[in-house]
Amino acid sequence: MSDAPLKGWHHTPNVPLKVSPFFQWPLRPVAMLRWVWNSWFLITERLIIVGIAFISVAFFQPQLAATQTLAFGWIVEIWLRNIVLMCLVAGGLHLYFYTYTKQGQRLKYDPRPLMKNGRQFTLGGQIRDNMFWTLASGVTVWTAYEVLLFWAMANGYAPVLTWADSPVWFIALFLLIPVWESFYFYWIHRMLHIPFLYKHVHALHHRNINVGPWSGMSMHPIEHIIFLGSVLIHFVVPANPVHILFHLQYYALTAATTHTGFEGLLVKDQNRLKLGTFHHQMHHRYFECNYGSLELPWDKLFGSFHDGTQVSDAKIRERRKKLTNGTK
Ligand SMILES: [Zn+2]
Ligand SMILES: [Zn+2]
Repeated sequence: MSDAPLKGWHHTPNVPLKVSPFFQWPLRPVAMLRWVWNSWFLITERLIIVGIAFISVAFFQPQLAATQTLAFGWIVEIWLRNIVLMCLVAGGLHLYFYTYTKQGQRLKYDPRPLMKNGRQFTLGGQIRDNMFWTLASGVTVWTAYEVLLFWAMANGYAPVLTWADSPVWFIALFLLIPVWESFYFYWIHRMLHIPFLYKHVHALHHRNINVGPWSGMSMHPIEHIIFLGSVLIHFVVPANPVHILFHLQYYALTAATTHTGFEGLLVKDQNRLKLGTFHHQMHHRYFECNYGSLELPWDKLFGSFHDGTQVSDAKIRERRKKLTNGTK
């Protein structure tokens, strides 16, 4: 047994997986800069989502004054915008990778196809099930939080930040929201693996042993409320509407991209757009590991980090045996 990659996967990235260099010792300034650079300034999903947030605010978003009173019209507009965004991202990735198999099996983690049918799924199939929960529950809860925040900002219940108030803070918030996400997600996800919550709530997301783009936001409504509830921090931390849009779009849309099942999008044989993470892909197959992401080192600290090697695998199996509490 060595650092060799795991068996049973079609594609694995270079292992062992490593967490952000901000949490590795000794500190390596160049690696730290490269981490920030790679996660922001190549064509990355984060930058794309910042773009989507600004386009939303410029063309598809009511003025704050209009959101002072709750009204059917602007709420439906926001809901429709989010439906379209979700369909473009999850639907687009699904068509590209699974319907038209544009990339074949290249960079695909799991050799198996998605499950066409299965009695464990709502509407009898994995894709129908995933689309249903994503659109009916996910986009609705996402929209509800946006409506709540815009309404609260318009009425002075939540603090509004403008560019003029502090350009530095305005930009810093974009950088901090993904770190906050990593922190928040680890803890709520860990909580959702408590047997009671797992059985009644989180198991719905875990119907997907193998994942596709529609699996990311396929969750129980209670999980949607908890997961997207991270945006409530802006009742305390001042933000601009564009940050609210980014915050929720980042959660919802990267849920789709991180579950793509492929490590990235190949352009001329180069991985040009990083997508699914092997880290979370392993969570779907092995359950009791990798609750968080690589941005913050919680899994490492608490012994649940699976770095994709066989050594790690043996450790995680041991851990899972100890946790056999009927959670599966
Ligand atoms: Zn889980
Ligand atoms: Zn997942």
